[in-house]
Amino acid sequence: MATKIPEAMNRMFKNIFICKSCKSRVRADPRRIMSSKVRCRKCKKKSFRAVKKK
Ligand SMILES: [Zn+2]
Repeated sequence: MATKIPEAMNRMFKNIFICKSCKSRVRADPRRIMSSKVRCRKCKKKSFRAVKKK
């Protein structure tokens, strides 16, 4: 069953970021992303973007 609840979707994608170089998803606190404390576990890069942006 695919339920489309905007709030749940928002919560799901809120703390998820995508690595700019290898496109893998990383879930982290946005503040940690901003202060570049989060590394991609695949390529070890620190550049992420929000999941909503295309
Ligand atoms: Zn990566």
